[in-house]
Amino acid sequence: MECSHCHKVSNELPYRCKFCGGTFCSDHRLPENHDCVGLESYKDNKHEEFKGDVVKAAKEYDAKVKAYERRGLDTRTVAMWIVIVVILAFLAYYVLKLMKFLP
Ligand SMILES: [Zn+2]
Ligand SMILES: [Zn+2]
Repeated sequence: MECSHCHKVSNELPYRCKFCGGTFCSDHRLPENHDCVGLESYKDNKHEEFKGDVVKAAKEYDAKVKAYERRGLDTRTVAMWIVIVVILAFLAYYVLKLMKFLP
């Protein structure tokens, strides 16, 4: 069997690279050792996948933070309105009491 990289012929079982499909001797069976053309695209794919995951995770995190902020703001707004309404109700009650409309 001839190695695709060094063209050394050996009687051992050839190693088939799962990235480029070539056959190699034991010295060159690793993708790094035969300048594997399949390895680059494999790495690129991994890289793209990884980048995609990071972007997706960042987007999800952003959405979560935004949703949380929106909810927090809503709670504060509602609380503020409740306080305003209670104050206005008390004011109205005292004004009416002062004007002797109420006992
Ligand atoms: Zn070789
Ligand atoms: Zn290869």
